[in-house]
Order: sequence, then structure tokens, then C-alpha cells
Amino acid sequence: MRDAQGRAISYLRISVTDRCNFRCLYCMPVDGLEWLPKAEILTYEEIAEIVRQLAPAGIRRLRITGGEPTIRPDLEILIGYLKAIPGIQDVALSTNGVKLVKKAADYAAAGLDRVNMSADSLRHERIVQIARRDLGLDPIAALTAAERAGLEPVKVNMVVLRGINDDEVEDFARLTLDHPWHVRFIELMPVGEMASLTWDHVVPSAEVLERCAAAIGDLMPAADAPLGNGPAVYYRGPAAAGSVGVITPMTHSYCGSCNRVRLTADGRLRTCLFGTHEVGFRDPLRRGESIVPVFQRALAEKPPEHHLRQMDAGGLTALSQVGG
Ligand code: SAM
Ligand code: SF4
Repeated sequence: MRDAQGRAISYLRISVTDRCNFRCLYCMPVDGLEWLPKAEILTYEEIAEIVRQLAPAGIRRLRITGGEPTIRPDLEILIGYLKAIPGIQDVALSTNGVKLVKKAADYAAAGLDRVNMSADSLRHERIVQIARRDLGLDPIAALTAAERAGLEPVKVNMVVLRGINDDEVEDFARLTLDHPWHVRFIELMPVGEMASLTWDHVVPSAEVLERCAAAIGDLMPAADAPLGNGPAVYYRGPAAAGSVGVITPMTHSYCGSCNRVRLTADGRLRTCLFGTHEVGFRDPLRRGESIVPVFQRALAEKPPEHHLRQMDAGGLTALSQVGG
């Protein structure tokens, strides 16, 4: 199905909770947010029913996100439901990695295709400084667990924070020498705790790529870039097993090729991450009505672009509320 600009919409990001076991300093206030009441959160059966109705309308790829999706009990049940829906080709998970050592194999057995793990530091004290929680996360062990479970291609998302973790860009790039992982550096965005961000805090992707090249050798465009739904651009060092990529919402616009919409944990469909346009699926669903006409109307009204590069996040308070 196409929106009013002619963009084919095939990718749905599903937030299953607005809660999180971390409080990343760029994402969520240290005291948390006002959480959604449990009765307003979609059940796994309701989420699966939404996808069942949207698959014939063109939704092919799914990402389970949050908040932190792995803190919702029995996530395997949802993974199994989604994977079984005819027309769904890919079910991926975004996670902070805390539960991966324990759960990666269970998720894979339930049908999960692959994982993107956020990792902003490889150093324990700094992980705790950024996440503002010490949950014993060992990022290398978590990524290895995902790889061993076959949740590949394994992707790593690092938000580059000037003066806080940008001295680790080289270490993250070096991970790709020995591991077949795809490390993506994300430009910090002016949302959530970063609402008053200035350009001084953003490390532009051009600078990140220069630092990667200094660490792992001249970068070539990665011809065999991993399967993805998004705007990352990938490169490879001469002897690297994996690749480095950049996601550049602050220095480039991807709106012209946008292929996605987002479902919030309480059943609202957001047609643009950085805009206030949304429609409610939960009430018609709970009345037993079809949500397809609501979806069609929402796509007709999907905004042509956002204005993030003008430091305008369009009213979004935190990425944890819509899953990034
Ligand atoms: N909890 C999961 C995780 O951390 O991967 C999924 C949800 S999290 C909101 C999704 C992504 O949004 C993460 O990669 C996180 O780093 C990113 N994110 C959150 N706030 C951000 C900001 N202000 N700028 C850039 N990325 C941000
Ligand atoms: Fe939680 Fe992910 Fe936000 Fe960090 S980025 S606070 S892990 S939702």
C-alpha cells in the first residue's frame, strides 16, 4: 500500500511496552516517565490481530521494540504469533541486550529472525554511567549469544555522544575486524532528555567514518550490506568480518524513501516518528471492527517529511514511547 507521496509502506515497528530497565541519559528521565496503564496496553493477541489485518495491505517486515521489549513477560509468545502470519517475511527485535544471554536461544526457537542491539559503550563503568542502571550487561557476551542463536545479521546500534562515548568509536569499529557484526553509529537526536540538544553535541557521520578508517583501514562501500529496512549506509575495512554503518537523521533526510509506520504499546499508529499525526487502532479493534480503513486513512495523511534537522522533533517526548 502506498501513501499520498507514493511511498510503499511495508515495515511496521511495534512497541510492546513504554517501560524500560535502563534509563539511558539521552532517552529517558532517571525517574522514568508516566507509564501507560496496563489496561491500555495491547495484548499479544491484539497485536497479532492488527498484523494479521495489515499483512494483506502490504506490511511485510516487523520490528519488536519498546521501551525495552524483553522486559515484557513471555515475549516468545508474540514472536511465535507474528512469525506465523502469512505474508510476514521478517521479524526483528531491538533491545538493550540485558536479557540476550538468557533469552536469545528462546527467541530464535520461537521464530525471531534477527536482533539489533543498542550498545553505547564497551566499558562497564561507562555503560552504567549512560544507562544509569547496573544490570551486569556484558555487551560482547550478549552479541555473541545472539550470533550463536542464529539471530543474524547481528547489528549493533551506538548513539555517539560528544564528550561522553565518542572516544570509543574506534573500539566499536575494531569489533568488525573479528566479528561478522554490523556496527551502526547513530547521530544523537533532539528528543527526550536531549530536547535542548545543540549541534555541539552531535558527532556528524563524516567525522565518525574518518575515525573508523583510522582504526580499521580505508573503508569501501559494503556491497553485501546486510538485509535491512532502514536508512543505514554500510562500509567495510579491508580485512573486516563485519561492517560499519552510519544512520544520519541529523545530517541527511530519509523522508523521501520512508517505508515505515509505528504502532505504540497502547495501540496508536504513528505515521511519522517526528510528528503528532496518529490514529487509534485499539478502540475499533476492541469493538471487533476492521482496522484496515483506519490504516488506509492514516497513510493518506502521512506527513511528507519531518523537521528534525531544524531541531524540531515534532512534539515527540521520548523515543522510548514509540520505539525509535
Ligand atoms: N530499548 C531498545 C533499545 O535500546 O534498543 C529499543 C527502544 S530504543 C528507544 C530504540 C533506539 O532509539 C535505540 O537504539 C536508542 O539508542 C535510540 N535512541 C533513543 N533516544 C535517542 C536519541 N535522543 N537520539 C538518537 N537515538 C536515540
Ligand atoms: Fe531504554 Fe532503549 Fe531508551 Fe535506553 S534507549 S532508556 S534501553 S528504551
